[in-house]
Amino acid sequence: MKRSVLLIYTGGTIGMVKNSRTGALQAFNFEQLTSQMPELDRLDFELDARSFSPPLDSSEIGISDWKKIAELICEQYDRYEGFVILHGTDTMAYTASALSFMLKGLRKPVILTGSQLPIGVLRTDGKENLITAVQLAAMGHSGSAYVQEVAIYFGSSLYRGNRTTKHSTQYFDAIRSPNLPPLAEAGIHVHFRHDLLLRQPENVAFELQPELDDRVAILKLFPGINEATVSSICSIQGLRGLIIETYGSGNAPTVPWFIDALQSAAKRGVAIVNVTQCSEGFVEQGRYAVSEHFQELGVIPAGDMTTEAAVTKMMHLLANYEDMEDFRDLMMLPLCGELTTYSSIV
Ligand code: ASP
Repeated sequence: MKRSVLLIYTGGTIGMVKNSRTGALQAFNFEQLTSQMPELDRLDFELDARSFSPPLDSSEIGISDWKKIAELICEQYDRYEGFVILHGTDTMAYTASALSFMLKGLRKPVILTGSQLPIGVLRTDGKENLITAVQLAAMGHSGSAYVQEVAIYFGSSLYRGNRTTKHSTQYFDAIRSPNLPPLAEAGIHVHFRHDLLLRQPENVAFELQPELDDRVAILKLFPGINEATVSSICSIQGLRGLIIETYGSGNAPTVPWFIDALQSAAKRGVAIVNVTQCSEGFVEQGRYAVSEHFQELGVIPAGDMTTEAAVTKMMHLLANYEDMEDFRDLMMLPLCGELTTYSSIV
């Protein structure tokens, strides 16, 4: 039996063409994309495809699209060895993060890729990205896949999806994983970091957890942010989760109006999570005096999670756990490799 991979085309630059009137890039249909890629016929395994109709620029992606992708993978889970999702780079890290929480107990590769230049352009990066992603999705040994998690293949590197962020609008290495080295690097050979690849405990079965709660917000701090802005975000009606993007190792102003706004949100049961604005390193509440108030308010430190991972994890946990203590514990625990647990903090 030939190995088989399912390609899910959601849109993104990889399949875009220029609008003849405005010159702006817009998503085009799947046939257009594959007609530019005769190389796909040379792959030594079965490749089936499903396409979003219409394909989307990833700036249009939302929770219902994540559910569509996750449900399709779940329906087809036994039929294919691996899954490749073609997706725009703008929100690829969010989609990869969301899927990593929705596809609990995953034991097959789900690899997202895309490109910075459309596949019809001579200098495209899309062909290498797509072909290698499909090959990675088919790779395995004695019936089990090398990659058993949601990952992103981009610019010669395979990353854990929930560790990534879009880093460049210009260069072919658009995606980076600041706090975890690549899971694999593709040159003449593909080198896997077997020590980093995620493996599920035996007692965890594959299960779709499609529910996500969108009653969340992100508050990015900047010097000069005013009371009206902070208090209006903290008092959004129905808000259940708030991410604060703080400075450095999790620091923020200590002025009374700032603390009061957070305190009143916390009293209403809003879960508050502290994510650093720095791309590298982690949140350490209490390291500086300007983060001690967070400890007193019960703010949850996000460690070295990216904002993309923290916000999608928050959506996932709020939809699946009622109890605030469970939410708190699980937010600080790696569910699928999205955060590093440090045994000692100096
Ligand atoms: N705007 C595009 C998208 O995210 C950019 C890309 O694909 O790189 O769909």
